[in-house]
Amino acid sequence: GKTRTPLMAGNWKMNLNHQEAIVLVQKLAVTLSDKRHDYGRVEVVVLPPFTDLRSVQTLVDGDRLQLKYGAQDVSLHDSGAYTGEISAAMLAKLGCAYVVVGHSERREYHAETDEVVNGKAHQAHKADMTPIVCVGEGLSVRQAGEHVPHCLAQVDGSLAGFSAEQVADLVIAYEPVWAIGTGEVATPEDAQEVCAAIRERIREVHGDAAADGVRVLYGGSVKAANVAGIMAQPDVDGCLVGGASLQADEFGGICRFY
Ligand code: PEP
Repeated sequence: GKTRTPLMAGNWKMNLNHQEAIVLVQKLAVTLSDKRHDYGRVEVVVLPPFTDLRSVQTLVDGDRLQLKYGAQDVSLHDSGAYTGEISAAMLAKLGCAYVVVGHSERREYHAETDEVVNGKAHQAHKADMTPIVCVGEGLSVRQAGEHVPHCLAQVDGSLAGFSAEQVADLVIAYEPVWAIGTGEVATPEDAQEVCAAIRERIREVHGDAAADGVRVLYGGSVKAANVAGIMAQPDVDGCLVGGASLQADEFGGICRFY
């Protein structure tokens, strides 16, 4: 069996203002407090827009609920003349435990390269937050049968400069771009193939402790109705959830996948 703590992370993307955010997190708090379920087995994280973080952190006690907060992106830079950017130190101060880096939407719409993603992962790590490093292939790469080498190259580039000890505590999310927001969920076998290949690569480069510690998530159209088959795969340690994380009951259903 798997010894890694399952992680369910809800990526709200650019949805919900700070007042709507409080409503959703309070509903989620009610869901996660339901003693009929053993939510304590799962680490639950929500990733609101930057403008919502202060509100949810102040009004909903994540510590009591074992609910953690994170951000969807972070600046490459420490501080200074970078208009519009948000630093890792600012996010850590707001109680963020996680930061998503290299989401496919950032790679696509903001031309983020593996080098940029790697720099952001280091910024998060330096501020004592865990980067959730996203990788994944588009449809044409999948159709060409190149998805495994494509994702492994992204892993290599995005994790450059991390030690084996550091990699053991990181989170990698495999998100096939063709499955994000499309309703087109990868099969459990598709998810397992790439998540297992990622873990094997970590084993080759960083050794057993890193490979056995690193958590590899699947993301792409995960719902309460399809999560069980995905989580049954030996190398899938959790899910990065977009659309379905905007409803407390649906996200709660995902968090009690077992
Ligand atoms: C995501 O954006 O990380 C994602 C997986 O989105 P969705 O669940 O909506 O496909």
